[in-house]
Amino acid sequence: MKIIAIGRNYAAHIAELNNERPSEPVIFLKPDTAILRNNDPFYYPEFSNNIHFEVELLLKISRNGKYIEKKFADKYFEEIGVGIDFTARDLQQRCKEKGLPWEIAKGFNGSAPISTTFKSKSEFTDLANINFSLNQNDALKQSGNTSLMLFDFGDIIEYVSKFFTLKKGDIIFTGTPAGVGPVAIGDKLTAYIEDEKMLEVEIK
Ligand code: MG
Repeated sequence: MKIIAIGRNYAAHIAELNNERPSEPVIFLKPDTAILRNNDPFYYPEFSNNIHFEVELLLKISRNGKYIEKKFADKYFEEIGVGIDFTARDLQQRCKEKGLPWEIAKGFNGSAPISTTFKSKSEFTDLANINFSLNQNDALKQSGNTSLMLFDFGDIIEYVSKFFTLKKGDIIFTGTPAGVGPVAIGDKLTAYIEDEKMLEVEIK
């Protein structure tokens, strides 16, 4: 399986990092070795001093497809979860300054904790109005709603599937809202969809 992630998909997050608003989705990949499951802890890597959390909704791809038109996109995912796109912001900044790819800043081991369970799409009355959030220890740090995405789920699937064949089991990280910030050893991150706790990650 592969992990496809969308960058710069919420205007307020683009502004907080002084990035340009994209005219097309910004895509990057993480290897499957980035995944953390079962609320496993995250071990702070020695190569960075500035690991940031980015809470994101996840789409789990349910059938294979490429060149998927937006109007058919909802036939390609049945479940929605939540994850954290851990980012080594210091490495990413260095890569960006040199115009280099970001992979080492985004795809390192453990950089993609995902919720143990996913929610069926049918549990949501409106996919364009899903709330999700992240607490760092007991403080609310990020809260997002899918109505604020620049590119919605259909746009993402249509665009991504032009370049990469989507396969059953692939996971798409759909972008983070504002409020990203650094983690420290000892922190506990908790991610929610609506009011339901879906994911817990301890930083070790
Ligand atoms: Mg992200």
